[in-house]
Amino acid sequence: MKDPDFKARHGLSDVINAAGTFTPVGVSRSSSQVAAITADALGDYFIIEELQQAAGRVLARWSGAEAGALTHCTAAAITLSVAAAMTGDDGEAVAGLPRTEGLANKVVLPAGHAVNYGQPITQAIRLAGAEPVLAGTKQQCSLDNITKALAMPGIAALMLVSSRLTFGQPVDLAAATDAAHRAGIKVIIDGAAQDMRIDELLALGADLVLVSAQKYLAAPTAGIVVGNKALVSAVRAQEKGIGRGMKAGKEAICGVLAAIEARQAVDLAVWASEQADKVQWLEKQLRGLPGLTTSLVNDTAGLPLARLCLQVDADQAGMDAATLSQRLKDGTPSLWLIDREAMRGELSLEVVQLGDDELKLASEIISGILGF
Ligand SMILES: *Cc1c(COP(=O)(O)O)cnc(C)c1O
Repeated sequence: MKDPDFKARHGLSDVINAAGTFTPVGVSRSSSQVAAITADALGDYFIIEELQQAAGRVLARWSGAEAGALTHCTAAAITLSVAAAMTGDDGEAVAGLPRTEGLANKVVLPAGHAVNYGQPITQAIRLAGAEPVLAGTKQQCSLDNITKALAMPGIAALMLVSSRLTFGQPVDLAAATDAAHRAGIKVIIDGAAQDMRIDELLALGADLVLVSAQKYLAAPTAGIVVGNKALVSAVRAQEKGIGRGMKAGKEAICGVLAAIEARQAVDLAVWASEQADKVQWLEKQLRGLPGLTTSLVNDTAGLPLARLCLQVDADQAGMDAATLSQRLKDGTPSLWLIDREAMRGELSLEVVQLGDDELKLASEIISGILGF
C-alpha cells in the first residue's frame, strides 16, 4: 500500500491468502497496471453508458459471446439474470419487481447446485422475486429430474452452477441446457470462479454465463454477464429497477477493461505450468511433517490447477484440522487455508494467490506449528 502505516493505524492484519479466490480475505490481488487504471478512474468522469457499451464490446470479443455487461458482483448478476429472464426488457415489469404477478417466476436448479458461496444461491434467486424449484436430490439429479421440473407451469429459467462448491454426482450441463432449450426455457450458468473456462461454458449453449471479475481475473469487484444479446440487454434494463443497488461503479468497469486486456496477453498453458511448479514445491516442503498426509488434487470444476490437500491426523499432529486452521489464522501474518472440510480432517492450500516469498513463508509457518 502507498501509505505504509494504513493497516497498522486501522488495526488491520497482514494476510497470506492460501484459501484461493476467497471473499472473506479480499479474493485476489490486482496487478499494478489494473490498480493504476482503477485509481485513475476514481478521479475522473465518464459517460457511464459509454463505459458500459465499451465493456460490452470487450467482454463479447474476449468471451466469444454476442453481448456482455457488468453488475456489482456475481451474486448481483445471479439476481439480475433471473430478473431478466422473468421481465425481458418490459419497463413496467422491471419497475414492478420483486412483485412477479403475471410473470413466469420459477427457476429450476439441480438440488446439488444449491450452493452457498457466503450466501445461499437460492436467496440470490429469491431476491429477484422468483421462486427456486430444486430438481433431484443433493446427491443425484438426473436429466429426467430436470426435464420433469422444467415441465411445471411458470418456469422462467434453468440455473446451473459450475463450481467446486457443488454437491453430489456431476450434472451433465450440456444435456440439461439442451433439455431446457427444447422446452423453450432460458439457461443461466453461474461460473463465478470459471473465467478461464468462460468460452467452454458458453459453448454448452447457455443463454447467459456469469463470472466474477475479482476472482482469477484479479480485477476490482464486478459481475461479468455474457451471452445472448436480448437477455444481456434485459439484465441492463434492471439498472432502472432492482439493479440500482447492484450496479458496477466507474472504477470497477475501468478496472475490468484493464484486467481483460492483461488476460489476453497471458498464455494460460504457461500460467498453469507455473502454478503446478509452485504447488509441487510446497508439497515437497510439507510432506513428512508429523500428522500430515499430503496429496495434490485437481480442481473438480475443470480449472487448470491443483490444490495441496493436507489430511491431518489429530493424534500425531497434536491438534485437529480445525484447530490448526484457527492457529494459522491467529498468527502474524494471518495465514488462511481452505478449511470447508476441516471436520473431516482435511485442509487445502491454493497457491495461485501466493508470491514466491509468501509461498516460502506459508511453508515455514505450517512447519513451525507442527514442531519443526
Ligand atoms: C464467488 C461465487 C459467487 C459470488 O460471486 P461474487 O462475485 O462474490 O458475488 C457465486 N457463485 C459461486 C459458485 C461462487 O464461487
